[in-house]
Amino acid sequence: MRLTKSTDIALRIAMHLAVLDEDRTPTTREVAEAVAVPYNHAAKVVSRLQHLGIVEARRGRGGGLALTAAGRTGSLGRIVRELEGVGDVVGCEDDQPCPLRHSCRLRGALRRAQEAFYASLDPLTVDDLVGGEGGGSGGSSGSGPVLLGLPVVPDSGGVPSGPPGPGPFGPSA
Ligand code: SF4
Repeated sequence: MRLTKSTDIALRIAMHLAVLDEDRTPTTREVAEAVAVPYNHAAKVVSRLQHLGIVEARRGRGGGLALTAAGRTGSLGRIVRELEGVGDVVGCEDDQPCPLRHSCRLRGALRRAQEAFYASLDPLTVDDLVGGEGGGSGGSSGSGPVLLGLPVVPDSGGVPSGPPGPGPFGPSA
């Protein structure tokens, strides 16, 4: 199973924001550069993260992007489910539907495997991934030190892209 590029970018951005100091609120362009993705891709993903309540855009002087409390401590499994959306891992119902789809045991087995994949992420949070207070369960030291070593973005106070708004993870922090 392979996650979409958008989900990968979203998690990179969330982890990057998770290790920044509270008063470090980078622009979308700065975040895109830090996690090495094209600006246009990052802007779309940031907009989606804002819609889901994982990232917030702080306006005004010194404004920029920040991880919300819900984004920091919410279930990673739930975040990935939201980003990936529901659907089969293979194209049973594609434009050219599979002729086996109404009596296929493989389809059910793949759905169970997909859910097991998400369930394995449920106990984790973004904080866990970067070595935050949650500690994580993967036995590694987390990606925080590497993320902190990424190129330092200037504190330009730019206005990030994308509409702010609450999402299914609750109000922004
Ligand atoms: S064989 Fe089964 S799982 Fe594969 S595409 Fe067809 S219905 Fe879906």
